[in-house]
Amino acid sequence: TKQQQRKPEWLKIKLNTDDNFKDIKNMMRSKTLHTVCEEAKCPNIHECWANRTATFMILGDICTRACRFCAVKTGLPTELDLQEPERVADAAAQMGLQHCVVTSVARDDLKDGGATIFAETIKAVRGKMPLCSVEVLIPDFMGEEDSLRIVMDAKPDILNHNIETVERMSDHVRAKAKYSRSLELLARAKKMNPDIPTKSSIMIGVGETWDEILRTMDDLRAHNCDIMTIGQYLQPTPKHLAVEMYYTPEQFALLKEEGMKRGFRHVESGPLVRSSYHAHEQVRSASQT
Ligand code: SF4
Ligand code: SF4
Repeated sequence: TKQQQRKPEWLKIKLNTDDNFKDIKNMMRSKTLHTVCEEAKCPNIHECWANRTATFMILGDICTRACRFCAVKTGLPTELDLQEPERVADAAAQMGLQHCVVTSVARDDLKDGGATIFAETIKAVRGKMPLCSVEVLIPDFMGEEDSLRIVMDAKPDILNHNIETVERMSDHVRAKAKYSRSLELLARAKKMNPDIPTKSSIMIGVGETWDEILRTMDDLRAHNCDIMTIGQYLQPTPKHLAVEMYYTPEQFALLKEEGMKRGFRHVESGPLVRSSYHAHEQVRSASQT
């Protein structure tokens, strides 16, 4: 109904195009780098960029998949940019990042799904900024174990892979992905290196039930996922999946409690929470426990 569709008060965002915002925008352009902040039309871009944090999106800006919630361009990418890892490291240094989050489009056209470029990016950031932690938010690599191993061998500080939605909605929301494949990836990563915390996110409001959210938490915990983030789905353009429901801040707080009860080391849950929202604080609080 119209009532449900109207955006509630707590989702209103503050616009802020201060010097940091412009500075980061210019830097991304001059280094021909992409960010998920821009490409996915993240509602937090003004806040994050004002605080000089951003999430790099590597391997180009054209994705081989077309998830129905995602604003990233779809198509067949043509090239592989081997200098990109160095440019990401330069940008991270210029921004003075203490925690660098790197994600990518899905590159199902590449044999390793782009895993080697992820590994090179981790190494390049480490090389330039030894004290900066690196979190990678990876695609599922079509379930290829070798690709995952390439990333794990580069020892990211956090291995993040989003399950995105509950099992029943998975085919509808992200047709080329599989709920079980995402869970397997998380469990495998943990097996390959138990010292590296794993993390996953869902966005809610696409038609799932409360119980299904709780079941997703149970599934993630059963696959040894350490950190979970939960946020409200927002329709990036009218062509994307419609919002079925807006959860209240109180419901998000309840979900955090449910998550902590289940043994996650950290749960970040709130209307505007995104996988990389306040990622630095998430890591800190996860490593304190
Ligand atoms: Fe970028 Fe993540 Fe912040 Fe969104 S929440 S603006 S994707 S860093
Ligand atoms: Fe967007 Fe990732 Fe899906 Fe590609 S795979 S459409 S970048 S969510």
